[in-house]
Amino acid sequence: MNAQNLVVIGSGPAGVSAARAYREAGGTGPVDLLTADADPPYERPPLSKEFLRGESELPLLDEDSLAKHDITVTLGDPVTELGDGRVRTASGAVHRFTTCVLATGSEPARPGIPGADHPDVRTLRSAADSRELRAAASGVRSAIVVGAGFIGCEAAVSLSRLGLQVTVVCPDDVPQEKRLGREAGEFLLRWLKSEGVSVLRGTKLKSIEGGYRVRTDLVPILDAGVVVLATGVRPRIELAEAAGLTVEQGRIRTDEHLRTSAPGVLAAGDVALAHNPAAGRALAVEHWGEGLAMGEVAGRTAAGEDAAWDTVPGFWSVVGDRVLKYAAWGDGFDRARPLPRDDGGFTVWYERDGKAVGVLTHEADEDYERGQELIRRGEPVPAS
Ligand SMILES: Cc1cc2nc3c(=O)[nH]c(=O)nc-3n(C[C@H](O)[C@H](O)[C@H](O)COP(=O)(O)OP(=O)(O)OC[C@H]3O[C@@H](n4cnc5c(N)ncnc54)[C@H](O)[C@@H]3O)c2cc1C
Repeated sequence: MNAQNLVVIGSGPAGVSAARAYREAGGTGPVDLLTADADPPYERPPLSKEFLRGESELPLLDEDSLAKHDITVTLGDPVTELGDGRVRTASGAVHRFTTCVLATGSEPARPGIPGADHPDVRTLRSAADSRELRAAASGVRSAIVVGAGFIGCEAAVSLSRLGLQVTVVCPDDVPQEKRLGREAGEFLLRWLKSEGVSVLRGTKLKSIEGGYRVRTDLVPILDAGVVVLATGVRPRIELAEAAGLTVEQGRIRTDEHLRTSAPGVLAAGDVALAHNPAAGRALAVEHWGEGLAMGEVAGRTAAGEDAAWDTVPGFWSVVGDRVLKYAAWGDGFDRARPLPRDDGGFTVWYERDGKAVGVLTHEADEDYERGQELIRRGEPVPAS
């Protein structure tokens, strides 16, 4: 691709990494990074952890290298239209491009039940959301967190550490049973309980009244000072759809170079369904590290390099002080094999058709690292 200028849409890891990699790969044209976010690019993982608890400032993302690489960042002005070689923003500005990277990420998905869209019902995606949740939590005694995915578990522990009585409404019998299996869910459940968090297991949300009263199928009414929905995300694909790009499984389909179906338009991060040659299929991934990795490939592709996204996706979660590391193709397993250790650490191996497809570890870094290689090579899970 012979790029003369680059427009990047989105200031998450995929967008920032694309802009930086373009420069580092020798791209010399002007680079505009356009974002809907009012804050300068920042790290998202702390928003449910230390930043939510007020223990850290907002950690900025790549501040020095954006300036050093002469990347123009425009904040708080969402792109509203992607057309043939140009984008238009809400303020009416028009930017022409020879290459564009779509890195619009995801937004929280609110369940389709009565009251879920009440403005007092919180979600957690941006720095502004995290600040608002911290402020809302400061004047109340209890919180209900709906959903027990990583963001739900992390936020629940953070709110508990802020002194709130926290109840998690967990749709599975144990947290993330469907995604990570029974054994991993039991570890998460024990961690939540040890942090003073109550978990309503196998419970489905029915409605939310007035922003603060939650009805579930098992417990008729729960009152809380603040209700947080951690019920998954939806990739932001509206621009791509309107521009006629190929969309599959709710994400923008790309090849391993992160090229979409439209010439000169790339996509990276949560919003992409990218082909991964090591996996032999397209993968949907919602991890910070993969945002960085895919962004880098998109930036290098934009600069004319022959780069491909072929890493095994990896994810770290910090629940209180406990670190979980997960590497997996992330699209299913037929057997989970837990290996608890005497020192409190553990590994869960995931396999499909006899091959390693994932590994989840706590204080077992050697298994995490070994696992990434086994998964990449499609080898069997080790016996011990
Ligand atoms: C609270 C929280 C904690 C997390 N913790 C972890 C963790 O511990 N480990 C981990 O691996 N992952 C974690 N994640 C997930 C990780 O942050 C995401 O997978 C990652 O941020 C995705 O990167 P992205 O660049 O694709 O999109 P995003 O980071 O979502 O960035 C998208 C960007 O696009 C902008 N945008 C959207 N629409 C437009 C538009 N129309 N015009 C202009 N700009 C637009 C947004 O403002 C934003 O800047 C966490 C996520 C959250 C919300």
